[in-house]
Amino acid sequence: MRKAIKAIVVTGFVLIIFIFINALAHNPSIKQKLEPISFDINESGAITHLSESIKFKTVSNQQATKKNIEEFKDFIGWLKINYKLVLKNTSLQTFNETLLFKWEGQDVSLKPILLTGHYDVVPVIPGTEDKWKEPPFSGRVDSVYVWGRGALDDKSGVIGILEAVTYLMEKGFKPTRTIYLSFGHDEEIGGVNGAALVAKYLSDNDIQLEWSLDEGSFLLGGFIPNVDKLVAAINVAEKGSVTMQVVGKAQGGHSSMPTSKSAVGHLSKALAKLEDNRMPGGLEGLSLEMFDEMSKHMPFIYKIAFANRWLFGGLIDSYLSRVPMTNAMLRTTTAPTMLSASIKTNVLPIEAIGTVNFRIHPRNTVKDVFEHVSNLVESEDVDVRLMSYSGRPASEVSSWESRGYRVIEKSVQEIFGDVVVVPGLMIAGSDSRHYGKVADDAYRFNPFPLSNDEFASFHGTNEKIKIKAFTEGIKAYIRIIETGSSK
Ligand SMILES: [Zn+2]
Repeated sequence: MRKAIKAIVVTGFVLIIFIFINALAHNPSIKQKLEPISFDINESGAITHLSESIKFKTVSNQQATKKNIEEFKDFIGWLKINYKLVLKNTSLQTFNETLLFKWEGQDVSLKPILLTGHYDVVPVIPGTEDKWKEPPFSGRVDSVYVWGRGALDDKSGVIGILEAVTYLMEKGFKPTRTIYLSFGHDEEIGGVNGAALVAKYLSDNDIQLEWSLDEGSFLLGGFIPNVDKLVAAINVAEKGSVTMQVVGKAQGGHSSMPTSKSAVGHLSKALAKLEDNRMPGGLEGLSLEMFDEMSKHMPFIYKIAFANRWLFGGLIDSYLSRVPMTNAMLRTTTAPTMLSASIKTNVLPIEAIGTVNFRIHPRNTVKDVFEHVSNLVESEDVDVRLMSYSGRPASEVSSWESRGYRVIEKSVQEIFGDVVVVPGLMIAGSDSRHYGKVADDAYRFNPFPLSNDEFASFHGTNEKIKIKAFTEGIKAYIRIIETGSSK
């Protein structure tokens, strides 16, 4: 008996030592120290350009008839006047109001790269205009911020790239690889008349890109709990989306004589079941790489858990699954969004319809999601219908070991110093769903540092970007283009 107790104590002790050793070794890999780099750019000119660009109401509405094409044409006219050097050194093609510039490299046998952004913006929600501290299309510049719709999404990306290219052209820089620049006019409504046509043009002409860089994540401060440093998640994939209708069925009739089972009753049980049985997910592949790297910058207690996933894996998964943002990184999400049933208080519906939107993780397909839902809730009382217009698979997952990824990672560290760079998953959509088809690797990242508060203004009220974040971001673009277009 004593021997047994002794054996248990010794084993426990060895186990604790083992767990601690793993945690102590859970540190970021030591990389060669990078020399900080900066560029003496025309900051005030760049800020004026961003401010002016915001004044064009290049709004993408869901209904095409609402589009004010003059604003788009005026923006293009303005761009041509203000970026004359870019026009001079490149060839320009247009696809509707989307612009594609080609800056030819010295070695045309090398695969080109693409830098892209979009200049259309989402509408300001009617009735919220007075909640803005500055009018949404004023482009006002104060001592800290540039304000307005598009300041983050994504005119800062477009103007940032144009400023970077202008700087390099002024210095006489000649790219080795050909560089394409594209600026989309309809990203916010799917990119089908812009980026999709550019991608088709490239594909029809057998132009395969080495890599592309589009809008995506930012350098986020205070966004990941327990990580103090700025986190630059270079998104290597984006989630897909599919919407289904779950339909409860019953006989209907007058509400004074209800049957024991109503269509609404069937629907509510089905929806509750769907929420209780989310698609499986967890830390693996891309999500594992991302959280494993971030955890190396967390306090020791978290390192203990992440360095010993063989023991704490279940605990970590359930913790991350409870937080909406991290949950979205781990799995295909389930979101009931719309309901409809009877049109009158005393009429029992024949059908009660719940609309459910799923954001598809790269490990799942549209078919997987449909099967999951059907297997869970389909019965003689419940139908599952795929909505005809929906169903976009998740993108391919690009490499986080490629030359392109390393170029972006290194450039960001040279400009911003000690930041955590991890591969990320984009939970919204971007034009890279199209460009990814003609690029070996497609990355989604804007090199602008943002606080939580600034990030919350994305698609919301009081959209703004710090002047300093914008100008430092231009320098990161310069470095990305300079090194990315080399051999
Ligand atoms: Zn965007």
